[in-house]
Amino acid sequence: MFLQKLQLKNFRNYSEASLNFSPGINVLLGQNAQGKTNLLESIYVLATARSHRTANDRELIRFGNSDADIKGLVHRRSDDLPLELELGKRGKKARVNHLEQAKLSQYIGQLNVILFSPEDLSLVKGSPTGRRRFIDMEFGQIAPRYLHDLTAYRDVLKQRNHYLKSLSMHQTNDRVYLDVLSEQLSLFGGSIIVQRQKFLTDLEKYAQELHLSITQGQEQLSFEYDSKLKDIKDRSEQELQQIMDTQLKTQYEKEIFQGTTLIGPHRDDIKFLINGKNVQTYGSQGQQRTTALSVKLAEIDVMKEQTGEYPLLLLDDVLSELDGQRQTHLLKTIQNKVQTFLTAPAMNDVARNLIKAPKIFTIEKGH
Ligand code: ATP
Ligand code: MG
Repeated sequence: MFLQKLQLKNFRNYSEASLNFSPGINVLLGQNAQGKTNLLESIYVLATARSHRTANDRELIRFGNSDADIKGLVHRRSDDLPLELELGKRGKKARVNHLEQAKLSQYIGQLNVILFSPEDLSLVKGSPTGRRRFIDMEFGQIAPRYLHDLTAYRDVLKQRNHYLKSLSMHQTNDRVYLDVLSEQLSLFGGSIIVQRQKFLTDLEKYAQELHLSITQGQEQLSFEYDSKLKDIKDRSEQELQQIMDTQLKTQYEKEIFQGTTLIGPHRDDIKFLINGKNVQTYGSQGQQRTTALSVKLAEIDVMKEQTGEYPLLLLDDVLSELDGQRQTHLLKTIQNKVQTFLTAPAMNDVARNLIKAPKIFTIEKGH
């Protein structure tokens, strides 16, 4: 798939903009603070209905305005699909083919994107929150059921934590309701874990191949789903639901004391291993970055496998963060395959040699 056209109105520092893109590589050049990242962000928001940099949609609306609007024309299979996301004071409206969607989950997934920014290079050594977010955002785009379960899980989790707090403050002593909440949480929790495990197995297959090639056959990359729940390997969804429910119920006292839910997918993590050793603990900085690169690039193939089409790739300032060999690898992987939007202060030599026929945009003060 590719994005043919993008129109922005009062998005960040863009008052109005209309751009036609190449299905190949689009290069956005410009000095600092001109609006390069803002443009990538608008594409990301158009696809996922949320920003990668802020949870507060107000920040996306141009200073002094009350609404922002992002319109895109997506070419998907043999169709042209108009998408629109309107951000206003009272939330957002999402339209597919000019029809407003009642639920955002019906909207997300029409356009698939993978964003790679310098912060993603710290996927491996960064926080578990970042790794969970990575799975949730990337997998959520291509798996509606996952997105649904995740939303439901978060709702129950909020209620359960709230209830644990009232138990801890002795406002109530009704454990039956806690049982009900635990069962509901386990229902979605078990389902989320089984889907994450499957996603990681799919991702691992491609990441392993890419990583071997980047490291010239030296490093075998593997993943592990790392959970606070015990005994969850090779379990069916039903078994996982049961396991989570049982384990929740064995630690009520601890959870009531702390006033929060201590186990479940909201606390889980991914472990990356090179030749069997944990990259986070034992890997060099270079190995950690290469791992992040392999993982990100592998997602392109996973999305293709699951949706039948390649996603868009948004590369924010990453070339300058990678050495020549890794830049070459990245650019070779995407060549002629994936519509790419790449920001940089200027073209460097590797990019000049490897990117065939880029469409170049010079971004200046939101124009
Ligand atoms: P760099 O090369 O430093 O990464 P950039 O071109 O990627 O720069 P952006 O992150 O896109 O820069 O930001 C450009 C400008 O947008 C900033 O100066 C910022 O103040 C401005 N900006 C951010 N949010 C808004 C907003 N809601 N309304 C108006 N301007 C905004
Ligand atoms: Mg930027």
